Amino acid sequence: MTEHDRLWYPGPTEVSEPVLRAMSGAMIGHRGSDFPVLYKRIVEKLRTLLETKGRIFLVTSSATGVMEASVRNCAAKRVLSATCGAFSERWAEIAKANGKEVDVLAVEWGKAIKPEQVDAALSKGKYDALTLVHNETSTGVMNPLEEISQVMRKYPDVCFLVDAVSSMAGVRIAPEAWGIDVCLAGTQKCFALPPGLTVAYVSEKALRRASEVQNRGAYIDFVEYAKFDDKGQTPTTPSISHLYALDAQMDRMVKEGIPNRFKRHQAMAERSRAWAKEHFDLYAERGYESVTLTTILNNKGTDIASLLKTLKSKHHVSMGDGYGKLKEKTFRIGHMGDWTPADLTQLLGWMDEALGFGK
Ligand SMILES: *Cc1c(COP(=O)(O)O)cnc(C)c1O
Repeated sequence: MTEHDRLWYPGPTEVSEPVLRAMSGAMIGHRGSDFPVLYKRIVEKLRTLLETKGRIFLVTSSATGVMEASVRNCAAKRVLSATCGAFSERWAEIAKANGKEVDVLAVEWGKAIKPEQVDAALSKGKYDALTLVHNETSTGVMNPLEEISQVMRKYPDVCFLVDAVSSMAGVRIAPEAWGIDVCLAGTQKCFALPPGLTVAYVSEKALRRASEVQNRGAYIDFVEYAKFDDKGQTPTTPSISHLYALDAQMDRMVKEGIPNRFKRHQAMAERSRAWAKEHFDLYAERGYESVTLTTILNNKGTDIASLLKTLKSKHHVSMGDGYGKLKEKTFRIGHMGDWTPADLTQLLGWMDEALGFGK
């Protein structure tokens, strides 16, 4: 691979050579006989990852496109958006931009959304859908998805829409068993693929809802997606290069062992949190720290821009700044995808050196 800066962002993350090579394969026609073979092979592997026999759509779009589509397809009118950071707030804005009535269940940035808060908010109104970001990539908080899904069982008319963009393939998620209706992820985070493709589990309930709502959109119409999915195809021309990459990456995941992949992410999270607590502090509420990234509270007034500059110029590493209003107040290590605890130890060593620790 050519010399380049290694990406320790919480997405896009570093992409391996085998995946980049897979991406450069010759094109096939998306209506030809080879395509459904590739498509079905990928979907089967994703079903293993997500512990489901249900529908999985492969959408050529960044994740935001499917965040928008899930609101359009699953909510006729009213949406409750649980927010705790920049991405969850954006989902509320997306729903508003699509003409939905949106109520926001807002918790302070850095805190997690608790099941009882979701229960209380849902009991107060009649909602078509709840939007929840599993792993808030701005604050480094991982919301208790499985616990929240227990509460959702009390609200069978509410479609449960989950953005798992920065957690799927890094931590265990079982959308079908947990009663999730849409569970989506862009491939540039824990899948460690180039950006531009989104994977989404879509429940039968979500599809029924989509068949009833008005103006569910044209580009990402779930009903159309299901029709084509039956044939092993996508409604429009997909990024076939991304599908090659995903096919290859899923094989690499199976080879590592999916539970091992999750353990590797957990080990990196623990290493990263220990470093953060030793030198700074964590931005996330205790007990709800993300497993795939660490948002470090810059409680020392360290010049983060200069740290990032040193890492780039000396070690050819690009690491995450604080997101939006958290710039300089925090910085973020994205320990996701194909990175290993040994790689992370090396990175933390470079950070120690740049910050003058351990001297
Ligand atoms: C990165 C990210 C997004 C946005 O993804 P795009 O692929 O840029 O549209 C949405 N939600 C979360 C939680 C993310 O981390």
